[in-house]
Amino acid sequence: MSQQTPHLLQMLGQLIATPSVSSTTPEHDMGNLSVITLLAEWLNNLGFQTEIMPIPGYPGKANLIATLGKGPGGLVLSGHTDTVPCNEELWKSSPFSLTERDNRLYGLGTCDMKGFFPIAIEAARQFINTPLTAPLIILATADEESSMSGAQALVDAGKPKARYAVIGEPTDMTPIRMHKGMMMESIRITGRSGHSSDPSLGANALDAMHSVLSELVKYRNHLQKNYQHSSFSVNVPTLNLGCIHGGDNPNRICGQCELEYDVRPLPGMDLSLIREDISKRVRPIEDMFGVSIDCRPLFPGIPSFETAQNTSLVKMAEQLTGHSAEAVAFGTEAPFLQALGMETIVMGPGSINQAHQPDEFLALDQIKPTVEILTKLIQRYCVDIQGDASSA
Ligand SMILES: [Zn+2]
Repeated sequence: MSQQTPHLLQMLGQLIATPSVSSTTPEHDMGNLSVITLLAEWLNNLGFQTEIMPIPGYPGKANLIATLGKGPGGLVLSGHTDTVPCNEELWKSSPFSLTERDNRLYGLGTCDMKGFFPIAIEAARQFINTPLTAPLIILATADEESSMSGAQALVDAGKPKARYAVIGEPTDMTPIRMHKGMMMESIRITGRSGHSSDPSLGANALDAMHSVLSELVKYRNHLQKNYQHSSFSVNVPTLNLGCIHGGDNPNRICGQCELEYDVRPLPGMDLSLIREDISKRVRPIEDMFGVSIDCRPLFPGIPSFETAQNTSLVKMAEQLTGHSAEAVAFGTEAPFLQALGMETIVMGPGSINQAHQPDEFLALDQIKPTVEILTKLIQRYCVDIQGDASSA
C-alpha cells in the first residue's frame, strides 16, 4: 500500500503547489480543503483512519484527524495547513513551486509549516507494520494564521484525545514549552456631535477617550507590577495602544472615537478576566461624559501557554534534541491542544525568521534529523509505552 504515498520531497512539492492562504482580509482568503484532501489520501494509503472535520461557519475549510492504531493515550503530531498571504513579486522563484537552491527548499509554507507534514509522514511510515500500544495521530488544522477557527473547532468537538502533542511550528527543533497569549481588542465610544462653541450641545467622545486611555495605561502598570516571568525576554505582560480614529473637524464636538489595542498576557493570565477588568475600569467613564462605551474583541484571541518543565514530553524532547526548552514570542495552537488534555510542546524544523516573508525556505539539512527525532518520539509514546500508562 505504502508505494502509493509519494516520497518526502514529492509530497512537499505538491503541498507547496496547492495554495491555501488564510487571511482576515476576504480577498486574500482561500480554503484549505485541497491540502487536507492530499494529506488524507496519503495517510489513508498508509493505513491511517482519516476523519475530515469541516469547520462550522467557514466553508471550504476543514481539519484532518488521521489515526494509526487505536486505544487511549498516544501521540499527536500537529500542523496547520494554511499559510499567510505573500507578495509574489518579491520572491526570487514562485512561492507556489518548490525550488531547491543553495541547499534550501524555497516555497510559501516550506517552514511555516507545510514542510512538517511530509517529515511527520516519513517518520510515521516506518511504523505502519508495527503493532502500536497507543495511537499515532497526525493532525492538520485550518486557519491558524487568521482566526484559529480550526483549533477552536477541535476544542468544541473534544477531539482528538491523546496524551502528548507536538506542534511542528518552525523552532529550529528547539522544544518550546511556553508562549504569551495574544488579544486584539477595540473600544468604541459613541457620544453626540454638536457645535464646538457650546460644549453642552453634545457629548465629546474624544474627551471620554482621553480618560479611557489613562485607565488603560494605569491597568498596564498594574499588570506589569503584578505579573512577571523571567523566561520571556520581555518579562511582563504588554498592552500596546495601536491605533485611534475619531472625529472629523476641529469645530465639531467629536461624536465617535474608536481605539484598537493589543495585549500579550503571560502564562496563567486568563483572557476573559482581562476583558472583564478592562470593561469594569472604563464603565464609569460612560456616566462622567454622557457617552456609551463598547468594548469588543477583534478576534477571539490566543490564550497563553505553558507546559511544566518536568513533564515527560519536555524532558524527552530536551534529551533528543540536546536543547533546553524555551519560551517564544509568537502564538500557536498549543493552548487549544492543551485544553484537550494533552501534554503539548511546539517543536519543528525551519526558523521563524524565515516565516511570513519573501523567499521562505526550509534548510535541507534539517529534514533528516527531524525525521529521526519524530521517529524516536513515536517509538517512545506509541510503541514502547504501556497502554495503561499512556492513558493516565
Ligand atoms: Zn505557523
